[in-house]
Amino acid sequence: MSVWAVLAAAGRGERLGDERPKAFARLGDLPLLAEPLRRLDESEWIDGIVVAAPPGWEEPSIVLAEELGAGKVSAVVAGGETRAASVRAALAEIPDDAAVIVVHDAARPILVDEVLARVLAPLSEGYDGAVPALPVSDTVKRVRGGDVVETLDREGLVAVQTPQAFLADALRRAADGEGTDCASLVEARGGRIRVVDGDPRLLKVTSAEDLELVSQWL
Ligand code: C5P
Repeated sequence: MSVWAVLAAAGRGERLGDERPKAFARLGDLPLLAEPLRRLDESEWIDGIVVAAPPGWEEPSIVLAEELGAGKVSAVVAGGETRAASVRAALAEIPDDAAVIVVHDAARPILVDEVLARVLAPLSEGYDGAVPALPVSDTVKRVRGGDVVETLDREGLVAVQTPQAFLADALRRAADGEGTDCASLVEARGGRIRVVDGDPRLLKVTSAEDLELVSQWL
């Protein structure tokens, strides 16, 4: 069974306050993209990788993959306007015989290999996909124009991370949709998604403080 990975790295990352796209913000001596790319490449679960790079940054991404010796990278594509569009562009480069596709946010540099194992397991138990998640510990409210509209019942709410794993057919069938993660696309097509334990180290870098925190963890 071949498992391919899409590394979604085409976000602009405006909240980081850097001219460079987020994937090329510095994490230590290397661009942020280097850390998840190296971890995917070294994972024994992964057979091939397609990177969705920020448009115009395909060449530096290829050079980075070469510098890292990331031999599983088979293609680097220009990402799209939305995350879903970036994933669609990457899917087009994944071989038809891939059985499973894992999608990971480059903005979560500390890809934990045990989490990869956890999201892959439900695919052999009848699920179309699996996502890692953490319980929500804060009270969550819906707010409009600064006023509280509603307080959600925290019971049963989770915060979902990546890597997310899917049967390749299920993801390809759903890929024409839009959503902030891939599982929501598969859900919208009636797919069964399993939730497994996430990991706090899979923090998504959105601010300069997050970047600092991740670099300390490393
Ligand atoms: O900003 P957002 O939470 O959607 O970013 C999640 C991941 O999706 C990031 O790794 C980002 O690089 C990626 N992304 C993308 N193409 C976009 C927007 C985000 O690959 N157009």
